[in-house]
Amino acid sequence: MDVVVVGAINVDFVVEAERLPGPGETVVGGDVSRHGGGKGANAAVAAARVGARVKLVGAVGADPTGVEALAELQAEGVDTAQVAVLPGTPTGVALISVAADGENQITVGAGANGALTALHVEAALTDALSGALPTGTCVLVSTEIPLPAVAAALRGARHAGVTCVLNPAPVVPGLAGLLEHEPLITPNRSEALALAGELEIPVDDVRRLSALLAHRTGSPVAITLGADGVAVFVEHEPEVVLAPRATARDTTGAGDTFNGVFAARLAAGDPLSVAARYGVVAASLSVEEVGARSGMPSAAAVEAALR
Ligand code: ATP
Repeated sequence: MDVVVVGAINVDFVVEAERLPGPGETVVGGDVSRHGGGKGANAAVAAARVGARVKLVGAVGADPTGVEALAELQAEGVDTAQVAVLPGTPTGVALISVAADGENQITVGAGANGALTALHVEAALTDALSGALPTGTCVLVSTEIPLPAVAAALRGARHAGVTCVLNPAPVVPGLAGLLEHEPLITPNRSEALALAGELEIPVDDVRRLSALLAHRTGSPVAITLGADGVAVFVEHEPEVVLAPRATARDTTGAGDTFNGVFAARLAAGDPLSVAARYGVVAASLSVEEVGARSGMPSAAAVEAALR
């Protein structure tokens, strides 16, 4: 199973504090930690952990942070040959404050992710997909990169005739216009509502919303619902795939885990609802550890939990 991920690569700096600062205020925090992050990079790691052959298309800065980010991805078995290393631009950074009650505040500096061009994505995808069989390959795109780069990825996947999953996170202006490329979309609940607003779809319950979005996009839809699992619409009836009960310690990266594993299982030829079940179980296992990537499970761990 081959997965090509197009998306952001960040480094997350996390500071734990008693409470979040107000505007103009400084709060002295406690533990500081640094984690690999970015929706593209996280999903790539999740897919690799369950055994997919993964290529990542994205950009980092020509700085020590970028070198470290790439080394971490390579250690996970992710092929980073199609990641541009851009001089004069810092690697993307997320500054995350976490309060004792679990509430967080995140500021993202896009850095090199914001400089990713459609031209780079077109060339990288053509290269990554050369010789790819339409069956057995899945392209996964998320939207923390410029819209023209997202559009290039959707066009490239369609041209190659491979399955394409669009994780519309975040929903940015103009994104709805790209649904004409008929990607399979995987919004979370609030992203699904935002897309419905952009498409002027009347909002009903989430199962019906999955059906309405699927009719509008012409492709299946999977809406992730946190602890409630995922609502899937393929052809006829909306279906909810329930999440197994988990002791959630940190849900950061849960959506990325779902997307990476879902894409890997689609590439393996699973029917959509089977791939969604696999993705949900993997994502629910991932929330039991602190850190976006720490709890991402192996294929064996997912299969044990599915039994
Ligand atoms: P995030 O932005 O935190 O990475 P998300 O908002 O994109 O996540 P969610 O819909 O919250 O995505 O969660 C994705 C999947 O993660 C769910 O379908 C479920 O499998 C799992 N999950 C998330 N939260 C929980 C939880 N509290 N208990 C069990 N599973 C969870």
